[in-house]
Amino acid sequence: MKVVSSPRYAIDIGPHVFPTEKFRRIYDRLLATPHPGLDGIVAPQAASWDELALVHTDEYLDKVRTRSLSSEEIMELQLPLNESIVEGFRLMTGGTLTAARLALSDGMACHIGGGFHHAFANHGEGFCLFNDVAVAIEVLRQEGAVSRAVVVDLDVHHGNGTALIYGRDPSVFTCSMHEQHNYPAFKPRGSLDIGLAAGTDDVTYLQTLEGVLPRVVAHEADLIVYLAGADPFEDDQLGNLTLSKKGLRQRDRLVLHAMREAEIPVAIVCAGGYARQLVDTVDIHVATIEEALSAMAARSPSGPPPARRGLR
Ligand SMILES: [Zn+2]
Repeated sequence: MKVVSSPRYAIDIGPHVFPTEKFRRIYDRLLATPHPGLDGIVAPQAASWDELALVHTDEYLDKVRTRSLSSEEIMELQLPLNESIVEGFRLMTGGTLTAARLALSDGMACHIGGGFHHAFANHGEGFCLFNDVAVAIEVLRQEGAVSRAVVVDLDVHHGNGTALIYGRDPSVFTCSMHEQHNYPAFKPRGSLDIGLAAGTDDVTYLQTLEGVLPRVVAHEADLIVYLAGADPFEDDQLGNLTLSKKGLRQRDRLVLHAMREAEIPVAIVCAGGYARQLVDTVDIHVATIEEALSAMAARSPSGPPPARRGLR
């Protein structure tokens, strides 16, 4: 399995709860010890403005390009806006597209980045400038490589931007399992939304997830994008679920084995993670990649992964 990453993801956004440093640390940890089945690290290319325009409005992209967002819009984005930040997010959007392409050819791929699910067509919110997942799906649909897609969003926050982007598109099934009474306040309906109570623990979470996965697989997608957010963790600063690291690893195992069993290509993106100790966030994301490697090995003990499914 290939992993997509770039040292340029450690964007300087000033003092911030969003630790962009995590991307470099995950990369370093992956290289620090042998990971059987890890078949190389691929550098992304930045998404072009034309590719971004498949999802985002021209008006919004013009404002981002010319740095003319209003102070209210900057506040909603909760990010400073300068050239290196815009270029960093463009690169990460390209990274999700690269991972999605690799998923189609290899069966599964991980992006150490991405998952910016609070970006809408016409504005950005909550540290999310561009909706990388929707851009990747739309580029591949335009190329005819994908017809139906699923987004499985297990970040602790509802995937509001993605839900609204695909609200009227039955060919893209959006599933979000999140903490109900948390950001964002406005939660447009996705295809399947499960709002969990604060304090939800490993047992309840995993039981709920087991009930959800058959519905996700039933969509018979050509591609699944999995947002493996690290923020359902018990010591996260922006979430109030109480999953342990073991529980989060089990979450990834359940999701990835179900997808592999169904032989649907999966692109995995990091999404959120704001643990009090950065090392915990890094541990959780690295565990997701390890579970992906293990799911790939389980399906192909002696040979290449199964060929991608044909288009319907
Ligand atoms: Zn989140």
